[in-house]
Amino acid sequence: DAGETPPLRVRNLRKTFSGITAVDDTSFEIEEGKITGLIGPNGAGKSTTFNLITGFLTPDSGTVELYGEDVTGMRPYKIADRGMVRTFQIARELSEMTVLENMMLAPKHQRGEALWRSVLPGARSQVERDEAEVLERAWEMLEFFDIDHLAEEYAGNLSGGQRKLLEMARALMTDPDILLLDEPFAGVNPSLEEKLIEHIHELREQGYTFLLVEHDIDLIMNNCSRVLVLHQGRLLADGPPAAIKSDERVIEAYLGG
Ligand code: ADP
Ligand code: MG
Repeated sequence: DAGETPPLRVRNLRKTFSGITAVDDTSFEIEEGKITGLIGPNGAGKSTTFNLITGFLTPDSGTVELYGEDVTGMRPYKIADRGMVRTFQIARELSEMTVLENMMLAPKHQRGEALWRSVLPGARSQVERDEAEVLERAWEMLEFFDIDHLAEEYAGNLSGGQRKLLEMARALMTDPDILLLDEPFAGVNPSLEEKLIEHIHELREQGYTFLLVEHDIDLIMNNCSRVLVLHQGRLLADGPPAAIKSDERVIEAYLGG
């Protein structure tokens, strides 16, 4: 039954940096169409876990499976091809380019055959058609995040919050199934944060699956159906918010502090 294959399954993942074990034998799954939270103190291994899952780092051992397919060690764009993309803790927009230009850059390696078609006869019109499609998608995403009025603005002139919206909009250019968000609310003002959360829930209702790293515990508890707790590279707990809040080990290692 395809419904039983999780969108993402991580088994016994390990990564060491010159003697420091950043991720230590971590295993978990995330559920289709849900928002799963990943929390843990600074240095717990959250960003490293993201990097391992999305191909920005190669694990020392362990496996990463997307919809049952082993993608361990694959390059990020190949993983994006298979439907999983991420945002970065520090937004990576190019400040010397406009918002729209940033959006058009995003889908270089998007799913589809645009590159192959371009080397085939009759490619020209196809390339033009592809570009029109990408442009349409870009406007659609800018409108969704209410930043279409900023399309011609240099990305460098955006506020911290607007950059986060652009980062999300860019991630959606490839029409992924799974979105990994690394602290998407950092530096975002409360009203924009509220809006961003609403957008995430809207996308979830459309069928997108989320893994969300965030330091605001209440935000995680209020918006995630399941929470993973990392501590010193190890998975300390994994369960629904209510169970996590009352978990003695979690309280002692993290929430209590
Ligand atoms: P978190 O995102 O939970 O704050 P990180 O995954 O960034 O944690 O870091 C986990 C541990 O791995 C920390 O001790 C950090 O210093 C270390 N670390 C992360 N990336 C590197 C790297 N590229 N080189 C060396 N050490 C790293
Ligand atoms: Mg981090």
